This record gives sequence, C-alpha cells and structure tokens, in this order.
Amino acid sequence: MARISDLLAVGRTFSFEFFPPKNDAAQLSLGRTIAELEGLNPAFVSVTYGAGGSTRERTRDLLVWMRKETTISPMAHLTCVGHTRADINTILGTYRSAGIENILALGGDPPSDPADVGPSDYAYALDLVEHLCQDEGFSIGVAAHPEGHPRSTSRAQDRRFLAEKLRRADFAITQFFFEAEHYLRMIDELAALGVTKPIIPGIMPVTNGGQVQRMAELSGAVFPAWLARRLDGVEDADEVRRIGVEVATTLCADLLAAGAPGLHFYTLNRSTATREIYANLGLPVS
Ligand code: FAD
Repeated sequence: MARISDLLAVGRTFSFEFFPPKNDAAQLSLGRTIAELEGLNPAFVSVTYGAGGSTRERTRDLLVWMRKETTISPMAHLTCVGHTRADINTILGTYRSAGIENILALGGDPPSDPADVGPSDYAYALDLVEHLCQDEGFSIGVAAHPEGHPRSTSRAQDRRFLAEKLRRADFAITQFFFEAEHYLRMIDELAALGVTKPIIPGIMPVTNGGQVQRMAELSGAVFPAWLARRLDGVEDADEVRRIGVEVATTLCADLLAAGAPGLHFYTLNRSTATREIYANLGLPVS
C-alpha cells in the first residue's frame, strides 16, 4: 500500500472515485466495477463520505474491504460538517488500524436542515487539514475548484484559501470541469501565490447528460454550450456515452500534454467509460 504523496513524487497517478453502495444489489454491482477497474492498475481509489457522517459506516466498510481484499490503495474522504475533534479522532483510529494512509480533507456541503447534523469543531477544510497534520501517518489531499467554489465571493479569494490549504496538505484533487483552460488558469493563479503542490484534475465522463448537468450546476462547473449542443436530442444511452468518452478523452489528452500530475476519474461506480478513455489514451493495463 502507498501514500499518495510518495506516489506523486515519482510520477503521474491515475485514480478512481467511488461512492459507498446503498444496498446489497449496489454492493454487488460495485464489486464487479472494482474487479473490472483493478486491471487498470490505479495508483489509488477514493471513497466519498456523506457530509455529517451520513455514510460513515458504509464508507469505512468499503475502504477496509478494499484494503484487505484488493491490491488497490484506498483514500478516505472526510468532511468537517457535523464532526467534533473526538469524532474525527475515532475515525482516524479506525483507518490507522486498517492500514489506510490517505485522507481527502473536505468542507462537506452544509445540510439543507442544520438540525440533521450535530455541531462541528471545524469551520473550513483547512481546520481539518491542520488537525490531520498532527498525525504524521497520513498523506493529506484537499479539494480544488477550478471555476471557483460556488459559495466563494470571488475566484481570487477562493484561490487564496486553496493556497492556504495547500501549504499544509500534500496534494489537491479538482472538482470536474469540461475545458482544460479552467484547470490551466487555476494552476497559473496558484503558482502566482507560490503553490507548486500537485493538483490532480478530476474527470467526469458524461454518460447521462441530464444527471451531469445537474451535478455541474451544484458544483459550480459550467456545462459548456457546445457540449449541450452535441448531446441535444441524443436519446440512445450508448451514443451519449460515446460522445462523453470522446470529449473526456480529448480533455485528458490536453491536460496530460500540459503537464497534469495525473487524472482522477469520477466513475459513478461504473467502469465502462473509464476503461474506454484508458484505451483511447493508450494507458497501460494488466
Ligand atoms: P473549504 O476549503 O472549507 O471551502 C469552502 C468554502 O469556504 C469555499 O468557498 C472557500 O473559498 C471558503 N473558505 C475557505 N476557507 C475560508 C476562510 N478561512 N474564511 C472564509 N471562507 C473560507 N463533499 C462531501 O460531502 N463528501 C465527499 O466525499 C466529497 N468529495 C469531494 C471530492 C472532491 C475531489 C471535491 C472537489 C469535492 C468533494 N465534495 C465532497 C464536495 C465538497 O465538500 C464541497 O464542494 C464543499 O462545499 C467545499 O469543500 P472544500 O473542501 O473545498 O471546503
């Protein structure tokens, strides 16, 4: 198993994100997806965490299972919302004993009803990063938002807060975006603030136009008009995926050519689109 900071120090990382399955059928389907993606030799895979701890046990169980039963290095997402320092110490203790060495420290989205979650000892992801830094065992990642975080008052201010996180954390993974210029502008703006830590672009291949457009609206990513036009009126699911894979392949190739330190694929717990992009890019598989 490996710390992501060590992997990034020696080369590019190609990695995948999963969310914890909600029921037995989803669990079986995810097991198949993981088996299909294991052959792509991911540097690591990450598992999302419901803000406020809503998926706490399911996230933990999936991470511990992957650590024991597969050859893949897992990374745990962890959020500030609804967590005290004592909660976080308990979760970290579980991960430490399971041999999980990588944590993505996140703000988490505030719940629609604050009564749904308990009090938090952390206002921002930076506070969680500072807590995690007290434990040398973990390699720590943070979230980056190429087009600015939706709650930010300005992109410049969002970059300053991101730069602050990256002075302590080892690396960042970005929110998804559809045009390389957003990522490249962020790298330039961070470089101007003295940040040189690796920032891995997050890639969301479009496999369902409506779903991805809704996710883009929530995350602050622009769904470009040219992509909406290409998908307009396309009903066949295979054709939607073909277009999504073609567009994502071009984006990945542009990002790698521009020097990105890796690619992190939002798989939505499916393997086909990611495998097709791998094949298009000529990335090695076993
Ligand atoms: P922060 O860094 O805390 O930033 C949140 C906002 O506060 C930003 O607008 C920032 O500019 C601002 N800010 C930061 N510091 C300060 C300060 N000192 N003063 C004033 N304002 C400040 N969510 C989940 O719930 N579970 C997940 O598993 C999950 N995984 C994700 C994975 C990735 C790769 C990404 C990119 C996002 C993920 N998210 C997840 C979503 C994320 O939690 C939300 O986008 C959240 O709203 C912000 O998270 P953050 O870590 O960027 O927060």
